Amino acid sequence: MTIDLAPEPSVADLARRTAAFVRDVVLPLEARDGVVAPTPERRRELQDAARAAGVFAPHVSAEYGGHGLDMRGRATVFEEAGYALLGPLALNIAAPDEGNMHMLEIVATDEQKERYLRPLATGEIRSCFAMTEPAPGAGSDPRALLTRAERIDGGWRINGRKWFITGADGAGFTICMARTSGEPGVATGGATMFLVDADNPGMKIIRHIETLDETLFGGHCELVFDNCEVPDSAVLGEVDEGFRYAQVRLGPARMTHCMRWLGIAKHARDIAVRRANEREMFGSRLVELGMIQQMIADNEIDIAASRGLINQACWELDQGRSGAQSTAIAKTFCAEAIYRVVDRSLQICGALGVSGDIPLSRFLREVRPFRIYDGPSETHRWAIARRVARHAATSGAGR
Ligand SMILES: Cc1cc2nc3c(=O)[nH]c(=O)nc-3n(C[C@H](O)[C@H](O)[C@H](O)COP(=O)(O)OP(=O)(O)OC[C@H]3O[C@@H](n4cnc5c(N)ncnc54)[C@H](O)[C@@H]3O)c2cc1C
Repeated sequence: MTIDLAPEPSVADLARRTAAFVRDVVLPLEARDGVVAPTPERRRELQDAARAAGVFAPHVSAEYGGHGLDMRGRATVFEEAGYALLGPLALNIAAPDEGNMHMLEIVATDEQKERYLRPLATGEIRSCFAMTEPAPGAGSDPRALLTRAERIDGGWRINGRKWFITGADGAGFTICMARTSGEPGVATGGATMFLVDADNPGMKIIRHIETLDETLFGGHCELVFDNCEVPDSAVLGEVDEGFRYAQVRLGPARMTHCMRWLGIAKHARDIAVRRANEREMFGSRLVELGMIQQMIADNEIDIAASRGLINQACWELDQGRSGAQSTAIAKTFCAEAIYRVVDRSLQICGALGVSGDIPLSRFLREVRPFRIYDGPSETHRWAIARRVARHAATSGAGR
């Protein structure tokens, strides 16, 4: 049996055009203005350029102005967009908006889609996803969810605190996860997602949290929900089904993060190989020295293995499977492999690597938190091992 892993011609064409757009438009803009804390004007400029190049919103369906790529198609195109730090922002596939669009397409009512998904898909507004709380609240263990929503006449009243909420500053709305039944730490039931408009007086951004990474739009914020009242129409999907919807969002969102950061790994690899080809020492070019060749080869292995695991997981998601195990494996491997690739590339460049003259130290800072968000490596390893043990216990494997 032949297995054809080549993307469909239309996907390959979009990927080629995305790569050209990133090379000709995004990278020059980054060189001109820098990448840290892009302004709303720069976001608009980048997105207008992506629209003009016909590469905007590859992930959303045609009904909302996109190209309607499935997960495997996204893998090919997002990797190209991720070659530049601001590439995903330009195409409107940056986190957290891209994951929120994916979930809204699946879960939202028609009315909610018109109100939230459509302007999000066109780039008119941005959004954020508020799940994580300061200890002892929800983090690696979502069952610890402390933020509560209680029923009031015609709606809900939300109280709680969230932090590390990416993109919150300037977002048009927040998807807030709150407990609507059950007790923290007991079971995964009892959470509901609420669509909270930015101008709701009960929701406040109390600070920007300083972090290692600095290029995600809208920063990472701490939010307080203080008697925040929302109508029944703000419930996303069904009451008490929030954890189930979180899985709808998180599996694919993990993979799209891997795709985008794989683009940065490739960029780091290219910088290092160019440098190794040019730099001479000890009577030869750096690229001819064995220990450098090993690092170059290990980079290729990490990049190829990451791509393979992403494609496997995306194929499962495209089949309508949960992909719980394959996305956890891919996310854990990619987050660590991508960091290794950037770190090795920086090492190959010597002092130049840690300088601001080339972007490798910036890349290193941007990819490091990926081993924590979308589930820390340890949480995924724990879940992977538990699934393996469960499977062995029920299938009798090894007996
Ligand atoms: C840059 C950035 C952006 C983020 N953006 C968002 C966002 O937009 N929205 C949002 O809701 N959240 C966001 N987060 C939060 C992120 O999802 C959490 O940081 C993550 O879920 C881990 O939770 P925690 O930080 O509370 O760590 P904790 O839950 O306190 O875990 C601490 C450490 O415990 C270890 N650990 C975890 N599980 C296990 C285990 N089973 N066995 C052994 N050790 C384990 C890991 O090493 C982990 O790093 C973001 C975080 C960062 C860093």
